[in-house]
Amino acid sequence: MDVALVQGRTAIVTGAAQGIGLEIARVLHAGGASVVLADLDAAAATAAAVALGDRAIGVGADVTDEAAVDSLVARAVEHFGSLDIMVNNAGITRDASLKKMTVDNFDAVITVHLRGTWLGVRAASAVMREQKSGSIVNISSLSGKSGNPGQTNYSAAKAGIVGLTKAAAKELAHHNVRVNSVQPGLIRTAMTEAMPPEVFAEREAAIPMKRAGEPREVANAVLFLASELSSYITGGVLEVGGGRLM
Ligand code: NAD
Repeated sequence: MDVALVQGRTAIVTGAAQGIGLEIARVLHAGGASVVLADLDAAAATAAAVALGDRAIGVGADVTDEAAVDSLVARAVEHFGSLDIMVNNAGITRDASLKKMTVDNFDAVITVHLRGTWLGVRAASAVMREQKSGSIVNISSLSGKSGNPGQTNYSAAKAGIVGLTKAAAKELAHHNVRVNSVQPGLIRTAMTEAMPPEVFAEREAAIPMKRAGEPREVANAVLFLASELSSYITGGVLEVGGGRLM
C-alpha cells in the first residue's frame, strides 16, 4: 500500500511485536505515519521498530498496567509531537471448556483485553479530546459476536470491547474523536497456530471464502478506520472474516 493515507500522523499499536499488531504497524508506517510499537516483549517491539526504520520506535509496555499505558501515550506525544491513532490490539487466549477453565484463565483474558483496551482508550482520548481529532481502533473478534465454545472468557472480553467502543464513541464524537472496532475472523498468526490443526481446518472449511485471512487483510481495515477515508464512521464494528458468521 503506497498511498499515504495517514501521512504525518502519529500512531500507537499495542501488541505490535508480532502477528496482526506488527502488520498494523507496518501498514500504518507505509501509509506515512510515525508509529510507536508497544508490546510486553520490549526486545521484539524494538527489533520490529528498527526493521521499519525512521518514524518508528519500540516500547515495552504491559497494557494491563495503568502507569505503563499512560506513559506509553506520553512517550508518543513527547517523541513524535502528537497522538492521532491508537490501536488497542494486544491480546491473549486461555482457551478451555467451562469444566476446565480456572478463574485465573478467566481473569487473565478479561484483564488484557478489556482493562487493557479501556486503559488505552482512556489515555489516548485524553490527548485526542484536547487536540480535537483522533481515531481509536479496538481489535475485537468474531468470537465476541457469536461466542466460541472453549472461549467463554475470550468471547466475553471481545463482546465487551464492542460495548466499550460504542460508549466511548458516543462520549468522544463531539470532540471529533472517532472510536471503532474491528472483528477479525480466523487469521493466520501464532495465536491460531496454537489451535489443534483439525479445529483450524474445520473452522476454515466453514468460511464462505474458504480460507483463513492474512494479518495484512486486518491491517488494511485498520488503516481505513485510522484514516480520513472513514471520517463519518464512529462506533462501528467492521468484520474482517471472509463472510464467516455474517
Ligand atoms: P499474537 O499472539 O500473535 O500477538 C499478540 C501480541 O500481544 C504479542 O506480541 C504479545 O506479546 C502481545 N501482548 C500480550 N499481552 C500483552 C500485554 N499485557 N501488554 C502488551 N502486549 C501484550 O496474536 P494475534 O493473532 O496477532 O492477535 C492480535 C489481536 O487480534 C488480539 O487482540 C486477538 O485477540 C485479535 N484476534 C486475532 C484473531 C486471529 O485469528 N489471530 C482473530 C480475531 C481477533
